[in-house]
Amino acid sequence: MKIPFNSASLTKKELEYITEVLRSGKISGNGIFSKKCTEFIQNNFGIKQAFLTTSGTAALEAIALLLDLEQGDEVIMPSFTYPSTANAFLLRGAVPRFCDIRNDTLNLDENLIEALINENTKALVPVHYAGTACEMDTICALTKQYKLALVEDAAHGIGGRYKDRFLGSMGDMAAFSFHETKNIISGEGGALLINDPRFISRAKVLLEGGTNRDDFLKGKVSEYVWMDLGISIFPSEINAGMLWAQLEQMKAIQRQRDLLWERYYNALKDIAGITVAHIPDNINHNSHIFYILLDSKKERDDAISHLTKKGIQAVFHYIPLHLSPMGQKLGYKHGDLPVTEDIAARIVRLPLYNSMSVHQQDHVIDELIKFKR
Ligand SMILES: *Cc1c(COP(=O)(O)O)cnc(C)c1O
Repeated sequence: MKIPFNSASLTKKELEYITEVLRSGKISGNGIFSKKCTEFIQNNFGIKQAFLTTSGTAALEAIALLLDLEQGDEVIMPSFTYPSTANAFLLRGAVPRFCDIRNDTLNLDENLIEALINENTKALVPVHYAGTACEMDTICALTKQYKLALVEDAAHGIGGRYKDRFLGSMGDMAAFSFHETKNIISGEGGALLINDPRFISRAKVLLEGGTNRDDFLKGKVSEYVWMDLGISIFPSEINAGMLWAQLEQMKAIQRQRDLLWERYYNALKDIAGITVAHIPDNINHNSHIFYILLDSKKERDDAISHLTKKGIQAVFHYIPLHLSPMGQKLGYKHGDLPVTEDIAARIVRLPLYNSMSVHQQDHVIDELIKFKR
């Protein structure tokens, strides 16, 4: 039996909606399906204004642009994340300041953030790893006290909650990803989420190529002109049609992922030498990732090769940003973030995708337990 780490899982409607788009003669961005998707996101997750983007990365880059960062500004974020979290800000001349993580949730250690804040700090970027919320009460209090922008990298996080609030609804701005590896997919895709109304009108101009086309479409002006800096990151309606098929089925997708996540959890939580995720009270995660921690790097590497031999593709990530060639160029070195380094050496992510069968999953579980015996 071959079990991939991920497989892009479809609902039954993608092709129907994409065909509808192609037949409609309107295939550029911001059309009917884009509108359905952004309204769904706004209404279901308590977001003030959502815009679809061509990727989560593009959404983060738009956020960095909207923050008007200057050379030398600092942005606090974890090193245990995907490079886009840092690149978005580096592209604007700002410097990432990497903060260590908690060894139980693998999220920013909220108690280490304050020591990194100085007069150059402009923003704080929590990444909700695996769709499990960061400790947002502490993080929001810090951004208020020091007047920092709060940007949630909620690339993993759609549908996850912190207390009664959805991930992506707490930051001034936030990003979702709909990359094929995430819970809800459109091939490549993302969403820019804006909760601080001060950014909304500027975002509309930015995303319309720097023009007031949005006012034009609403009949407020008779022609649209170049107003400000602009980019072009709306996905086409072809992608939005695909995304709508997924969002429409989000409840069923979430149920299936929760079921698989719980089955892994229950099967592995009492196996000696395997540590499973800790989910704090008051947090509803979205079953984006199922990972385990083993006792050493050697044990982790052996586990991955054992699973590979059995046709199971298990992976590890992230290589911490601060240890990567680019992180070292920024002046970081081994030992700077001990928890991040320890976790990155011991983590294994197990296959988890919407269409995974219980039978496939049992094979993964059995082989892991055999490995530990
Ligand atoms: C996937 C991901 C991104 C980037 O999203 P894309 O849609 O792939 O550009 C950013 N941050 C994190 C934490 C991610 O996992």
